[in-house]
Amino acid sequence: MSLLSVNNLSVEFAVDEGTLRAVDDVSFYISRGESLGLVGESGCGKSVAALALTRLIPSPPGRIVSGQVFLGDRDLLRLKPDALRAVRGSEISMIFQEPLSALSPLHRIGKQMTEGIGFHKDMSRKEAWQYALSWLKRVGIPDAGQRMYSYPFQLSGGMQQRVMIAMALMLSPGLIIADEPTTALDVTTQAQIFNLIREMKQNETALLLITHDMGVVWEMCERVIVMYASRIVESAKIEEIFSRPVHPYTRGLLEAIPTPARGRNYLKDIPGQVPSPLRYPQGCHFQDRCGYAFERCRNEKPGLVDCGDGHLAACFLAYPGREYK
Ligand code: SF4
Repeated sequence: MSLLSVNNLSVEFAVDEGTLRAVDDVSFYISRGESLGLVGESGCGKSVAALALTRLIPSPPGRIVSGQVFLGDRDLLRLKPDALRAVRGSEISMIFQEPLSALSPLHRIGKQMTEGIGFHKDMSRKEAWQYALSWLKRVGIPDAGQRMYSYPFQLSGGMQQRVMIAMALMLSPGLIIADEPTTALDVTTQAQIFNLIREMKQNETALLLITHDMGVVWEMCERVIVMYASRIVESAKIEEIFSRPVHPYTRGLLEAIPTPARGRNYLKDIPGQVPSPLRYPQGCHFQDRCGYAFERCRNEKPGLVDCGDGHLAACFLAYPGREYK
């Protein structure tokens, strides 16, 4: 049985120009202990989908219009607020791209950490303090005892991110959702943070890693889901998607990765831009950027089809009867 099962999730936002669908009929699962990547360009709906899992969509203007999110046998979209609050942190933790948006600027690190522990674990204040301190040490914060008394703004970006990771892991959640956890950091710190997540992630802890970087997914994940313009366009095991990408968008993402073999001047992008959710075309959302588009693509939306061994792709070229090269 999956740890988390998302079925037909759709999220809309009411804006001045109308209603836009940021996540459209998205379904996926994560198994216990698995690392799953969710990739796509900015604006594809990855972060909104992740926030919707624990109902963190600001409402209004956002609204989950349909779907189910099962954690075990509980549908998180229908849990009472108290029960959902208990799930957040202890069963599902989030690491955000910008730690300062998640850490309170008004409270010292030690206070923020011990409050979280106090809410979820049966510990005295002293025990909670020692426990928090041990986690700051585990994530490599120098002078951890002193840092317990620091405010977030007194820490570097890398240290703030380490604090977030400590807070996300210290309650031993079954699932960590990490949304672009290193985008704001320099490459050296990025590598340290990813090593840390890998080391700290217990065998039983699953990871949903949201990123636009296929290289990061290759290093960190066992399976990947590619989103484009609010929909899932491909999903497969990591080796499979790198060796046999099916959807032209996934191919474009992979061709954009610079490698030593591609030379120093290699710079390849996917022409065009992600369309606005207010103006998605009829038919395939990728049609205006796709070199393979044909008439059917202009009129019908391709659904996901199985290309073998659980490899799914939403492209008419993958449909039976077409030879995709
Ligand atoms: Fe391209 Fe058509 Fe496939 Fe869409 S369905 S990705 S437009 S070939």
